[in-house]
Amino acid sequence: MHQKLHHWYQLNKRDLPWRNTNNPYIIWLSEIILQQTRVEQGSPYFINFVKNYETITQFANADINDILKLWQGLGYYSRARNMHNTAQIIRDNYNGEFPNNYNELIKLKGIGPYTAAAIASFAFNEPKSVVDGNVYRVIARFAGIYTDINSTEGKKEFALAAQELLDSENPATHNQAMMELGAMVCKPQNPDCINCPIQENCFAFSKKEQANLPVKIKKLKTKERYFNYFVFEFGNKTYLKQRGPKDIWQGLFEFPMLEMSLLKNPSEVLDELVKNEFISKTEKVKIQFLENYKHILTHQKLFASFWKITCKTKPNLSNECIEIEIDEIKKYAVPRLLEKLISNDKLQHQLF
Ligand code: SF4
Repeated sequence: MHQKLHHWYQLNKRDLPWRNTNNPYIIWLSEIILQQTRVEQGSPYFINFVKNYETITQFANADINDILKLWQGLGYYSRARNMHNTAQIIRDNYNGEFPNNYNELIKLKGIGPYTAAAIASFAFNEPKSVVDGNVYRVIARFAGIYTDINSTEGKKEFALAAQELLDSENPATHNQAMMELGAMVCKPQNPDCINCPIQENCFAFSKKEQANLPVKIKKLKTKERYFNYFVFEFGNKTYLKQRGPKDIWQGLFEFPMLEMSLLKNPSEVLDELVKNEFISKTEKVKIQFLENYKHILTHQKLFASFWKITCKTKPNLSNECIEIEIDEIKKYAVPRLLEKLISNDKLQHQLF
């Protein structure tokens, strides 16, 4: 595998401005820039940085505002600041020379396992595997690893597999070749297996599993929602509505509500009640704030405000709402959020 991979790399590697160097400063610069951008977009930034600061000491001596200006457009500005700090530490504590091994490199601020491995192997030929997004994909397919690449367990497993596959005689070339193979041949969609130098031993190729590897479980983002609940009081009656399908709390009962940003005061509540035709413009109602609650669900964070609306005439609610005696409410299945309100001792006299 190693021979074929290296041969392919020598024939096919792209001529990128940071290749063919073992200068750790240049490697570091390119790796940090490329962590957040594609090669085509990152190249002009890289060239500009090297032109302005030829050495790490020049970079360390630069004004941070000039660095940020050159960085402009790359995003993640904390990385530029961390780089500047790291450069100053190397200037002051390491005589302006990068440490020449992984264990020392990893101690530097802003240098994580990936960058430390890249510098250690590309600049000092230390047998350390480098695992970027492209390499994760190649290894998952080649070795048939189905563990989620975003999980802690997956990260450990891939790091071990990468280290086992590493050509320890030629770590720099091997790592570059794996990264290049992932970028150019073993692409996320439609990998070019026919022209792949390691096809012969590839698990995904032999089992036609390319589309199923790597396994990447996306973390669902937590959604924030804001519920304004109205506890209408009309005589000794109040109103509930049963929640429908395709949302949380299907089948449970809740007070009539508006899902929108939280209303802050009685006057905003009145405006919304009129706008949504719950009450008429001329209706005189009493509006009292009851309570605010925060409630966390697996992928949702709910913020709820409860308002008591005392009406002289029956509120104009949809047919889906049921009218009940206020003290019957405990018979209905309600979400935990409403239960908190109903069972709040301090609110008993206001509610019932
Ligand atoms: S054979 Fe196909 S799936 Fe396997 S490493 Fe090569 S390009 Fe990727």
